[in-house]
Amino acid sequence: MWDASKCDFCGDCLVQCRYVNYDRDKAVTEIKLLAEGKEADILNHCITCVACNDFCPTGADPSDLVFKMQEAFGTAPLVRNAIPQRDHLAQGLEGRGAPVERIPGDPDKPVLSFDSFEYSHFPEGTLDSDLFKGMTVVRGPEYMSLTGCVHMGGVSFVEKYAGRVIGKLAELDKDIVYLHNEGYALAHVKAKELGIAVPFKYKHLFEHLLDYLKSHPDRIMKLNRKVAYQANCATRWLPEQDAWLDEIFSLIGVERPPRQYEKENALCCSLPILNTNRTLAIEIQEKNVKDAINCGADAIITICPFCDAVMRRPTSQMGLSKIFITDLCRIALGEIPWPAKN
Ligand code: SF4
Ligand code: SF4
Repeated sequence: MWDASKCDFCGDCLVQCRYVNYDRDKAVTEIKLLAEGKEADILNHCITCVACNDFCPTGADPSDLVFKMQEAFGTAPLVRNAIPQRDHLAQGLEGRGAPVERIPGDPDKPVLSFDSFEYSHFPEGTLDSDLFKGMTVVRGPEYMSLTGCVHMGGVSFVEKYAGRVIGKLAELDKDIVYLHNEGYALAHVKAKELGIAVPFKYKHLFEHLLDYLKSHPDRIMKLNRKVAYQANCATRWLPEQDAWLDEIFSLIGVERPPRQYEKENALCCSLPILNTNRTLAIEIQEKNVKDAINCGADAIITICPFCDAVMRRPTSQMGLSKIFITDLCRIALGEIPWPAKN
């Protein structure tokens, strides 16, 4: 959440933004304009990657300010382009869209939340895996994680609907495992910022995978592979998950080779601008995949269905295997084979 009291107008956030080329004076001017509630050039160029929250040395969360002003002015291409999607999401969140779906499971096991994703957005066979066996599964528009609305000029959706989404999950009266980290970000970060109590226990997917792997060490076949990581935007709100991923990699015999575009320097998958600036989107994708290949990776993993869909074309064309994190664990458990190059 943007905290003006922490901002000393150093300009670091927008000097480091790799989607504009601002010098320090320009960066400072831009942030000052936004802080005063005025329109600024960055609104049209920000691709909503959330990286500037990481670049800010004082924790002022400048990306939240940029997103707020993008929504307020409504002139940025990615905001103008998404009016129908925002209307559709609002209907679903208010219970006027598709009904929620629930696959009942073992009463003693937690619920696996697909948020508002379709089952088919995750790899085929995900629900057949021992990783999720016996879990109740829910999905639907009223379980939407909301945090991704920043990519379509809907940052206010978090404030408006977070209580409702958390309440809908609380009705299940069970522990929740979030298959997508944006749901976890809503419960763990955004709800706290808004003072919304979360009346159930919840886990990040990586924590769930770690629990399974640690309790089934005899099933793990070390992969002895090098794998690059496509971190999604929500990782910027959840710095703790990087250590969890390292632990998963260590348990299954995977090395994360150092690459240029990782951690603070990670590249956006480019989805937010796919329809508004396709040339830049493709340039980002190709830089990203080339970097993963250059670091010697045998594959790149994704953790978000949207990143996964976007990365399909460049990884396929450039000859790098792309694997969803759950499938990487399934390979180590012997459930599925290492993929042929996609
Ligand atoms: S969110 Fe990303 S694209 Fe937008 S201003 Fe911050 S660093 Fe730049
Ligand atoms: S938001 Fe952070 S990085 Fe940006 S100008 Fe303010 S203090 Fe500096």
